[in-house]
Amino acid sequence: MKEEALVVIDVQNDFCPGGSLAVAGGDEIVPLINEMIGRFEHVVLTQDWHPAGHSSFASQHPGNQPFETTKMPYGDQTLWPDHCMQGTVGAAFHGALEWTRAEIVIRKGFRKTIDSYSAFFENDHKTPTGLGGYLKERGIGSITLVGLATDFCVAYSALDAVKLGFDTTVRLDACRAIDLGGTLELMTGKMRDAGVKLI
Ligand SMILES: [Zn+2]
Repeated sequence: MKEEALVVIDVQNDFCPGGSLAVAGGDEIVPLINEMIGRFEHVVLTQDWHPAGHSSFASQHPGNQPFETTKMPYGDQTLWPDHCMQGTVGAAFHGALEWTRAEIVIRKGFRKTIDSYSAFFENDHKTPTGLGGYLKERGIGSITLVGLATDFCVAYSALDAVKLGFDTTVRLDACRAIDLGGTLELMTGKMRDAGVKLI
């Protein structure tokens, strides 16, 4: 019998109202996520964790504004306001998130020259974070994803999870989206086509 894990993506201050990359309603999902944390046998958290001057920050690209796209050696990269810098209040988990039951916290985006939306692979889609191996070694075959943001870190994580063979569910009511020019519809469609259960 394969075990199940809840994977809570990036419920951090900078992604909540008042943060530097606030997702609308990002804090509204915290009570529901807390209730789920209480029910799941295994809980995994991810934390976006950038060094100062990270290459995904628009501030590092003179002439570009936040939310524009640029070319990186590994492909297209959306540029963001400075966010989730290591050790800052913005990078901390939302104050009401009941994170203490987490068995592991996967930090991502800590290499200056490459971003990582997915909890499983960096944005070159090749460099593993280690989470896939961790879950498999522990006999976890089924995961449910919640958190921020639906159309970026949650969606990329869900698509990679399916590729790695995990039975993958996204609880859309426990996620909120950035929706940058239609990205929510685009990524929701990609998840559905890939076999992610959207509930
Ligand atoms: Zn980031």
